[in-house]
Amino acid sequence: MTHVRRQLAAVTAAFALSATSLGIASPAVADPRESEKTATATGYGGAVSTVDPEASAAAIEVLRKGGNAADAAVAAAATLGVTEPYSAGIGGGGYFVFYDAKTGKVGTIDGRETAPAAMPNDAFIDPETGKPYPFTTANPALPTSGVSVGVPGTPATWERALERWGTLGLGEALKPAIKVATRGFVVDETFRQQTLDNKARFSNFTSTKDLFLPGGDAPAVGSVFQNHDLAATYRLLAKDGTDAFYGGPLATEIANNVQAPPKVENPTLPIPVGFMTAQDLADYKVVDQDPTHMNYRGYDVYGMAPSSSGGTTVGEALNILAPFNLSEMKPTDALHHYFEASSLAFADRGKYVGDPAFVNVPTNALLDEAFGKERSCLINPTAAAPKPVAPGDVSNYDGACPTSAAPSAKDSDTENISTTNLTVADKWGNVVEYTLTIEQTGGSGIVVPGRGFLLNNELTDFTAVYDTADPNRIQPGKRPRSSMSPTIILKDGDPFLALGSPGGSTIITTVLQTIINRVDLGMTISEALAAPRAAPRNGATVSSEPAFIDAYGTALESLGHKLMPAGDAFTSAAEIGAATAIEFGDGGKLTAVSEPTRRGGGSAMVVSDNSRDHGRGR
Ligand code: GLU
Repeated sequence: MTHVRRQLAAVTAAFALSATSLGIASPAVADPRESEKTATATGYGGAVSTVDPEASAAAIEVLRKGGNAADAAVAAAATLGVTEPYSAGIGGGGYFVFYDAKTGKVGTIDGRETAPAAMPNDAFIDPETGKPYPFTTANPALPTSGVSVGVPGTPATWERALERWGTLGLGEALKPAIKVATRGFVVDETFRQQTLDNKARFSNFTSTKDLFLPGGDAPAVGSVFQNHDLAATYRLLAKDGTDAFYGGPLATEIANNVQAPPKVENPTLPIPVGFMTAQDLADYKVVDQDPTHMNYRGYDVYGMAPSSSGGTTVGEALNILAPFNLSEMKPTDALHHYFEASSLAFADRGKYVGDPAFVNVPTNALLDEAFGKERSCLINPTAAAPKPVAPGDVSNYDGACPTSAAPSAKDSDTENISTTNLTVADKWGNVVEYTLTIEQTGGSGIVVPGRGFLLNNELTDFTAVYDTADPNRIQPGKRPRSSMSPTIILKDGDPFLALGSPGGSTIITTVLQTIINRVDLGMTISEALAAPRAAPRNGATVSSEPAFIDAYGTALESLGHKLMPAGDAFTSAAEIGAATAIEFGDGGKLTAVSEPTRRGGGSAMVVSDNSRDHGRGR
């Protein structure tokens, strides 16, 4: 289906008015704003799926002008920094996965944030109480702080992705985003609600209040939101490259605002200060990383290697499921196996995965078919194992069923619906799967004054209490363990499916469940994405969407699972994830899929609906 561009007369008028009041010449005809959302788009010659129509339109514009998937992905990501500023932007980090049609190889960039060099291992312990800073709705002391801010990796990721795989320079790739930041975008329910959810936190910072709570309230639905400061920051990066971010005045300002956040006079939160210096920014480097790889029922599944736990955990769970014939099972039984496999893989994630630059991560063992097979012995087809299940022993396995389990480990995770994910394909057959984030919705709550973007609170992904046995303990310079799981799946050497999602540690379960839905349970990719979700992560209860509980709750509870309605301590949504995907069919046919309803619905678009435009695809 072709996406139809629609110009909103009322909105255009509002833009002309606000542009005039800001002293900006109002154009004779304002640029049309993308506001129409299409959940599934089928076509040829390139495709994109993001959570936002402006970002998807930016990618399509780049693809139509001859840019490739890497160029379009950076353009879309930069636009998401404007329209989804609480989920992603240059103040955060992420993981970029690229399938190169020329070489047939998948490569990845680890653009995760790092801990400052001066970060002590007790940074998250409140000196007054001797306990970790609170992480609750009533007192989000740790999330709303300088101490949680990691050195951002996103600008360096964009630059590296363009250098390795793109055809455009950063300046060209940023153009669509600069346009959207300048002319503004139409505020929707999701943007207003996310602002309201953060109102108490944002009100603690002068810069954040000024930008996102103009007049003391969240911007109204239907109004036009412009971000001239961000447009100027993007123009600076367009002109001087990322040196202008990792050095110079902007780097100094970032460090200063982490060390002394721009607090209002009487803040309602404690706002612990951070340790980042301009030198930390100067030292930041992305990592060119080999993807994880495993084969599931003939599909080659490529994911993100540590520092993300996405690739190993999705891959291990699939290996655990491989011995079972899910497609022949009743849906409840298949879901029971999914629950158990996911929990077993999460136990190993907790025990073994951290930043490989600092700890020894047994990536190969975790993805070894024999290890997965041995772990699958622990699944009782008719009863849920008591949770948490214990991790396996990566130093001693042979694929045979063990007689006793290793000691238990607990894994504590926060769950939220922040972050954003995008999928792009071009007419040459290249594919990008990219997940980027500022961690929690609204990140640290700190906007760098005059620069138009929020700083992340990614370091909250470290374990708060230091323990030398924990691979995810705080260490200076280290990347906190992530769950981001951008995944590209090949079949017989050609792209079959690319997918990813936001959602903290539920990212892993969303990607895993969607793969199972598509590969084993006979759903189309649109159905697989839309289906109700549950997020089994080796806890006493399984966080599940209400529709999932309605459909499967009774049957799964009779097997011993305890389902709990999903919900984030900080937001009002009872949803899990906001996935995007592209499936690759015969004759170059592309099916781009986004969420029909979650997070207000996403935006899928294709370059052309004419099969003559199929380029080089299958
Ligand atoms: N910080 C999370 C991670 O890297 C992502 C945040 C989210 O999606 O909510 O795993």
